[in-house]
Amino acid sequence: MLQGAIRHFPELQGESISVGYTKRYGESDIRRLLIRLNPRRLSYYVIGHELTHLVQGMKDRLGENAIPKGEIACDIWTIARADVFLDEPPGYLDVGRRVLLDWKAHRDRVRNLCIEAIERRNVHRHYIQWLTRELR
Ligand SMILES: [Zn+2]
Repeated sequence: MLQGAIRHFPELQGESISVGYTKRYGESDIRRLLIRLNPRRLSYYVIGHELTHLVQGMKDRLGENAIPKGEIACDIWTIARADVFLDEPPGYLDVGRRVLLDWKAHRDRVRNLCIEAIERRNVHRHYIQWLTRELR
């Protein structure tokens, strides 16, 4: 699963990433390029979310392609990145109860909205509010 996830992260190409264990959902340490995963609750979404945190930590190197800080931004960029990360609903982006109840039926539309929100962010700083309204 790690290999299936990391191939969608060209920013991490050539980097040495450590993977550890946690009893929590997932954790990351940006400075050490370390993620911790819980093998009992593993999903591509969680792996992608933690890897996205590592990319958030590369802000200086990525310039205008940098991913903004924060858990909600982390979810938006993870969902937008690839279909594989839609295997469970996001933990921080509020998609609303109806979407959560039938994630499979809605996840492709949610991904398209996340992609659109990232594009809108270039001209429109309130992209998270916009996305939350669209999700509703
Ligand atoms: Zn997180």
